[in-house]
Amino acid sequence: MEAKAVKAIFPGSFDPITKGHLDVIERGLNLFDTLVIAVGENSSKDSVFTPQERVEMIREIVKDKSRVTVESYDSLTVEYAKKIGATVMLRGLRNLTDVQYEFQLAMTNRAVAGIETVFVMTSEKYGFVNSTMVREVAILGGDVSDLVPELAYNKLREKLNLDK
Ligand code: ADP
Repeated sequence: MEAKAVKAIFPGSFDPITKGHLDVIERGLNLFDTLVIAVGENSSKDSVFTPQERVEMIREIVKDKSRVTVESYDSLTVEYAKKIGATVMLRGLRNLTDVQYEFQLAMTNRAVAGIETVFVMTSEKYGFVNSTMVREVAILGGDVSDLVPELAYNKLREKLNLDK
């Protein structure tokens, strides 16, 4: 029997995408045939980038990865996953706090939609990186260049008027 290609979805806010996310994406590509990075449009008041800006930025950052696509969505994540034919949800784990939250989310998604979640542990290097912290540090003028891809760093500086 021929093996079926597995499409995974990596959902998140990605405001902005970090090197931790990129690490999860690389690991996901070792496991799945194709990967859809799905940017949730659920508007949060303290977001820095619009969903469209995030999509464009991520597309540019992953443009050399032929098995990756980037989309935004505004429905329930599991509904969107079904719509695009993704059978696996990819999520990253950094620490035990993530495990607790992600465990609940994965159980809920499986109960309501029958979708399986696959977790990958991030590289130790990025175990402390999260987008909220990156935004807060950047807003206060701190240097986040080691934590996010170069394009995201430049866009953050531009958006926050840090070069003026
Ligand atoms: P959400 O708002 O859904 O938490 P995020 O964009 O913050 O979205 O994160 C999306 C996914 O990426 C989550 O599974 C999160 O645990 C994972 N993630 C975020 N940062 C890292 C990191 N530094 N290392 C590993 N996984 C991460």
